[in-house]
This record gives sequence, structure tokens and C-alpha cells, in this order.
Amino acid sequence: MSVANGRTLLAIPGPTNVPDRVLQAMMRPAEEIYSGPMVALTDSLLADLKTIFGTKARTYIYAANGHGGWEAAISNVLSRGDKVLVLASGRFAIGWGQMAAFMGADVEVMEGSWRASIDPAKVEEWLRRDTTHSIKAILMVQIDTASGVVNDVKAVRRAIDAAGHPALFMVDGVASLACMPFAMDEWGIDVAMSASQKGLMTPPGLAFVAANDKAHKAHETANMKTLYWDWTARQGKEHYMKYCGTPPEHLLFALRAALDMIMEEGLPAVWKRHALLAEATHAAIGKWAEGQVIACNILEPSQRSASVTPVLVQGADAEAIATYTQRICGVTLGSAIGELSGRAFRIAHMGHTNAPMVLGTLSAVEMALQALNIPHGSGGVAAAVASLAKGAGLPGKPADHQVPENDLALATAPA
Ligand SMILES: *Cc1c(COP(=O)(O)O)cnc(C)c1O
Repeated sequence: MSVANGRTLLAIPGPTNVPDRVLQAMMRPAEEIYSGPMVALTDSLLADLKTIFGTKARTYIYAANGHGGWEAAISNVLSRGDKVLVLASGRFAIGWGQMAAFMGADVEVMEGSWRASIDPAKVEEWLRRDTTHSIKAILMVQIDTASGVVNDVKAVRRAIDAAGHPALFMVDGVASLACMPFAMDEWGIDVAMSASQKGLMTPPGLAFVAANDKAHKAHETANMKTLYWDWTARQGKEHYMKYCGTPPEHLLFALRAALDMIMEEGLPAVWKRHALLAEATHAAIGKWAEGQVIACNILEPSQRSASVTPVLVQGADAEAIATYTQRICGVTLGSAIGELSGRAFRIAHMGHTNAPMVLGTLSAVEMALQALNIPHGSGGVAAAVASLAKGAGLPGKPADHQVPENDLALATAPA
């Protein structure tokens, strides 16, 4: 018997849940593309993206997914034959490196663990060995969506500086932007990129790049440039060239609404919400882990990401759990990819997500563990509830927690 009828809970790490307000922002006619409101819209989005990236540097918007954003970033600053160092920590930096190799870069990979974040000391050592400074760019991800790790961008920057290496520092924030702090200027990132469909709560189809003066200097001589991605072409006055053609208007309307929601909630509150929901998820998995089958993929709690948690399943069928939650409960879990393929499932807790969505997802997983007789410690969901009860809530006096008078009046008003 299935109890899945009702709204499906999507707990995959992208595309994520699109808020009704964002969906509704797209329900409107197209606009003239050369002047007026569209120009103002583009200007407002480019400005707000600076805030989201934590930078004063130039920002660019592409009609593309994250892979397009990767290509935009590479093609604007590199030349064929340039050496690129990939700091691996799962799947995604490697994917970015593969794109660079396809475009003619000479890519080397500093292998990392699937269960821990990049070791800055190893980065420093690697760069010190490059005495001729042949490495032109360093690629890394802040959150690797495949392994669930969060890398310490600031610490890697310090390692690059300690080695006195001049390579461009390029960071993928697709699964971390608007999920946790991102401080491009403060952390010394030269090129940052992201996409619309994860923490930014917008349908897939937009990629974002932010690039500082050092990156624009490299841009002057880069020979991988193509007109579609080219920063110079997009810097002109002509609005049409800001997108190298027709703007993806309805996605831009959607992004405007999503950024408004993020600004209204406030970035620190957005980050805190993600951290609390992630902690609750980790608390549940910690209990389940007592059965010796379920485990968090990332070993060190402080290296677990705020946006997605891959859950290892050792000695039982990970796919059966996801099939159960889907068919019986109406909860769609993320499947595992790369090295974890077939051995894990992923719980996303990013973007437009709140406590009942995460608690509901965790409850469905716990139900699957019981129904499928998979050994697990009991009380996982209770641990998640306890974690949220401790971390969430309003600050200040108990009186602040009371229902506002207006709401009370509404609640008691005669029908
Ligand atoms: C999802 C993701 C990408 C790829 O984005 P697409 O839109 O699927 O091309 C890149 N990097 C990270 C870290 C991601 O999570």
C-alpha cells in the first residue's frame, strides 16, 4: 500500500524546489529586449549577484547550465596548452578539469579523498614544486555535490599565497552559493562561477560568473575565447550583447524573484537555515549509524556540507531505500554518482527548504529502514527534531516567541 499521494517532496541536489513566488514571476508576457525594463532588470541582477558572490568584481549571466558556466570561466582566461591544476574532492572539480582538457588545456589532478576535504598543506607543497609557475589556473569546488564535502576556500587561498604562486584561483559555487558563506573578494578568488538551479531556487538554465581585475588581465591574452562566452563583448552598452543574443527573459524574471526572497530573508539567515537543516540531517544519520549499515560519507562532521548529504549504505541495497521512499512515501531522494554510485543515496537540504520538508524526508528514510529490515539505530528523526528544537527559534525573551496579536485575532475571528 502506497501513501505517496499528495505533493511529492523533491530532495535531490538540483534542480531544487522552485518557490511559488518564483514560478509566478514567470507567468507574464515577454518584453522588448533592447531597452527599458529589460535593461534595468539586467543591471539589478548583475548588481545583486555581486552581493551573493561577495564581490565588487564584474558579474556575467549566461543562458546555460553549470557546465556552460564552467566553459565560460575557462574560455575567458586560458590559452591552449596552459597548465591547469584540479584539486579533486569528489566528482565536480574533475568534471570542470575535463572540460578544460577538451578545450586544449594541459590538466593535472591533485587526487583527493571522496570522504574528506582538500588538504591545504598538500596544495602548498604541490605549488612549491612548480618553480617555473607553469600552472596558470587552479580549479576547485566549494561544495562537491557528489561526495558532500565542503572545502575550505580561504585555507586553500592561504596555501596558494604561502607557496607564492601566481596562478588564477577559480572556484565553483554551484552547490554552495546562497547555502553557506561565499566571500569572493575576502577569500581572494579570481574567478567564481555558479548556476541558477540549486541554492538560488531558480529553474535550470542560467549560469553566473564573477571575475576580478586579475582575471580580466588574463582575459586580454587568452586564446580560448569564443564570442558567445566572451566577457569583452558582454561589457558593451548594447543590452542584446549582454546575453550574446535574446535574453532568457522568463528565467531572468524568475531569478529576480528568487534574489528578492534571498535578500528579504537576509543572507546570514539563509546560511544559518541551511546549517541547521544540515545538522538535523546529520543527527538523524548519526543515530541510524548505530546499526553499522548507514553512515555519513564525509567522516569529519565539520567537513560535511550545508547543502547536500550523501548517505552510505554498507551491506544493504541503497537503491531499494530510494525506491521505497519514492513509491511508498512520495519522497524523491538523490541517487549517488561517481565512486558512491550504487552504494549511497543523497539527501539535499538546499534552496527553498524548511524544517517539515527535511523532517519529512528523514521520516520517509527511517520508514524505509524499518520496512526493509535494514539494521539502524532507532530515534533518528527524533534526534533531528531535537537538533532543530535546540538550534532554531526566535532570539530574545520568551515573549518574542508568542504569536503576534494580529495572527491571534485572525485565528479567533468568527468565520
Ligand atoms: C550541479 C553542479 C554542477 C553542474 O551543473 P549543471 O547545471 O548540471 O551543468 C557543477 N558543479 C557543482 C558543484 C554542482 O553541484
